[in-house]
Order: sequence, then C-alpha cells, then structure tokens
Amino acid sequence: MYKARPIDAAGGKVRCDACPVTCFIKPGAAGACDRYANLDGELVRVDPHIMLQKTIDRGGECVPFSASEWDGTILRESEIIVTAIGAGTTYPEYKPAPLIVSSEIDGVDMVTVVTEGIFSYCGVKLKIDTDRHLGSEMATVLSQGEPVGHVTTGEYGSQMLSLGGVNHLTGGSKKEGRATCDAILSLCNGEAVELSIEGGSTVVVEAGRAPIVNGVVESRMRAGCGSATIGMFAKQWHGLVDEVVVIDDHITGVFSEHQAGKMLGVPPTGIKIKGRRSTPGRYFQVAEPGQGWGGTSISNPLDIIGSFDPKQAWPGLRMLAVSTTGEQWSYFELDETLAPQQKELPREIKPSIERISENCEPGMCSVMFIAGAGGSLRSGIVDNPVNITNAVKNKRVEVTCGGAPVFLWPGGGITFMVDVSHMPKRAFGYVPTPAIVAPIEFTMRHSLYAEMGGHLDYVRPLSSLRRDRQQ
Ligand code: SF4
Repeated sequence: MYKARPIDAAGGKVRCDACPVTCFIKPGAAGACDRYANLDGELVRVDPHIMLQKTIDRGGECVPFSASEWDGTILRESEIIVTAIGAGTTYPEYKPAPLIVSSEIDGVDMVTVVTEGIFSYCGVKLKIDTDRHLGSEMATVLSQGEPVGHVTTGEYGSQMLSLGGVNHLTGGSKKEGRATCDAILSLCNGEAVELSIEGGSTVVVEAGRAPIVNGVVESRMRAGCGSATIGMFAKQWHGLVDEVVVIDDHITGVFSEHQAGKMLGVPPTGIKIKGRRSTPGRYFQVAEPGQGWGGTSISNPLDIIGSFDPKQAWPGLRMLAVSTTGEQWSYFELDETLAPQQKELPREIKPSIERISENCEPGMCSVMFIAGAGGSLRSGIVDNPVNITNAVKNKRVEVTCGGAPVFLWPGGGITFMVDVSHMPKRAFGYVPTPAIVAPIEFTMRHSLYAEMGGHLDYVRPLSSLRRDRQQ
C-alpha cells in the first residue's frame, strides 16, 4: 500500500482528486476505480508501489559477489527501477508528479519522475497470428456488443486490429466508452477478451496466448506465403513430386512455374490455376478469404485448379497440394484423362509436410498499448512542458512504462507504444471518466532535470521510498 498525500476531509469522508471524477470516499471504502481508498481519514493508494530489480528480472544472480567488492548491500540503487505502478496520480496536473525520486546510477546522479497517467485517448494495437479470416479491413470490432475498434491491415501471417482511441473512448455513447475501456484494460492486464468482428469471426485475444478463432485454438502461424513456402522447401520436393500447389489466401504458389522450380529444372506440368497471376508461379485471389486452407474459403484444393494442358501434362503426374501451415494437405495423380485422382500420400513426402509445420511459429496474440503523454502530464514533470518533450526527442530522457522499454513515435508529442507482456501483471487501472490509467516513468540526469525547470523541491531520495514501503 502506498500512502498518498493528505486530502481535505469532511464528516469522515475524504475527497480523491486523482482524476476528474473526484469521489467522496467513506471511511473504509474505495473510490469508483478501486485504486484509492479511505483509510482512517487518509486517502491511500490501494495497490503496492512496485520497484523492479533488474538483475532478478534478467534471471541473473541476486548479489554480484564476483563483480566487485561487496559492500553488504542486498539491493544496489543502480539495480532498482522505480516504476509508476501503484505510485498514484496527480490531477489536475499543475501539481508535481506523485513521486520524483533521485538515485545514483553508476556514479551519476539521476532523477526518475513517475506517475500513473490518466489516458482518455489511448488504445491497443493487436497482432493476431492467424491465417483464418477474421473480418474485412475496416470492419467494426465489437466487445460486449459495443463498437470498440476496427480491423486494420492483414500483415505477414497476422491480422492487425486497432481498439480504443478517442472516438470510441469518449466520442460515442457512455456504454461504448465503458466497453472500450473494459476491453483495453483487460487486454493490457493480460486477461482474455472475446471480440466479434462485424461480418466476420469471433476471436478470443489474450497477450502471449494463441488466438481462439470461432472456438478453435490457432496453433500455428504460417511458415510464409505460398510463394515463400515453395522457396523454402523446393529442394525437398524435387524428384518426389512433379507439382506442388501451396494454397494461400495472399499468394498461392505453383512449384513448376516458380523461380525455385525453374532453378531446379522442374518441367512445366500444364497446370491451370484459377486466380490472378502475378509473376511466374505466384497467384493472387485464388478464392475468397475464409476459415479453410491457407486462410481461403476452400476445403477442396481442386476447387482452385482448372484443367491440365494436354500438351504438357501426362498421365501419372504426381501433385501435392498443401497449405502454408502444413495443417492441410492432399496428394493426387493424374489419370488417363488428365483428371487429378486423390491417392494415399507416399511415405517419402510426409517429412516435407512436417518440415513446413516445424517452421511455423506458434500462433500468438500480441497486445501493444499506445498512448500519448499529454501536455498536462508533462507539466507534472517540469515547469515548461515542452522541455520534457524536446529532451525525450533528443534521447536525453528515457521513457519506460511500468519499467518496460517503450517505442517512441516520431513526430509531435510523446506518443509511445509498449508490449504489455513485458510489464508486471495488473500494471493498468482505469477511472470511470472513462480512461485507462497506465504507469509512465521518465528517467534523466539530475543536472538535466534542474536545467529543464524540474520540480526540484519535490525530489526525494530512493531510500525514503523504501522507508514508506516498510511503514
Ligand atoms: S475514480 Fe478518480 S476520483 Fe474516484 S477514487 Fe478513482 S482516481 Fe480517485
């Protein structure tokens, strides 16, 4: 538990000023967000304030006995990261950030400013490793029946979704804002959320776990598109089959026509693929997107294959059809009329299919939290907020989120993204405005902090935090 600064009390109640809701909290009760409570007339932050120990996080030794002369200190200052998790918020932000901590790192005086920022304009970007068709680009994503985001681009073996942002959090109905806030909070805290996509699938998303699409766990991410798969495995098929069709919603590959087949001297087979030919051996739009082979709508590979040219094909021609994950495959031989007949897969071809599967990454959901550290939050750090923006851009200030490294977007403001799976569990909170509460830390040299007009009167040594925690 971390004790916050004293607040006006009236009739045993205390007023929380950590967000615009400004709850009056009865003795022994918590505010609307469950983050602050009234403990004997004092406003307290309920969650423990978290400090991370870098060495333990890296899986290293607790005390580096051999690195230098040990002075008896269990935890050295340079090994501790002060996070904003559980630190509290200052609202309105003309007040200094709740904790401004000085410490010595490798002989240099440093300052870390931490605050649990209230982000009304934030969101998550989801990368869902799947071949299955989740929905059309720009389709609305729903949670609890409310629109919370949309489908963006399909990338290499993954479908991207974008949830939240100003329009869903504050621009729609109250219900929409709450459902959006709920979905973002749960995803960022590592919980599973079921999303449904208009005109598409339902998908259960959880950071670091396989997506569940329409009730089916997605175990594999494709090895590559159909063309890449041919490039990767052409040598293994050479001599065992005459033709391979790698079925994929993005690029379907044809072995005999593909550059890789040509390099190996594979003769033409006269195969005709229904689809738009891009370059030799690479076909677009062979079928509609769907839940079938290679993310297409088909369950029978012959649906995309037209007739074989009798000038090039021959009876007995051996053809393998396979998907980009190796999950689906069929083997055919041409009969006297050059019609493909399904046959049992020859034993010697099996290892090449297993090799495709072996080269697939496990299907996974990634959750990236994205937010902008607004001008008001920045004034909790320095007198003139633009100073911190410039220092961050000049890489003189390190920004972290719950101790995790962030990706900083170029351009205006301090817009950052963080992989929530690198953060401690339950690092996020919310306030019912609605907005997400996320930790953010700014670390810099003490001299720079002074130069920028930092709130020097509020700087406290790291050891004073440890004392607070022990109380
Ligand atoms: S909802 Fe806002 S005002 Fe109410 S307890 Fe939480 S932070 Fe404080």
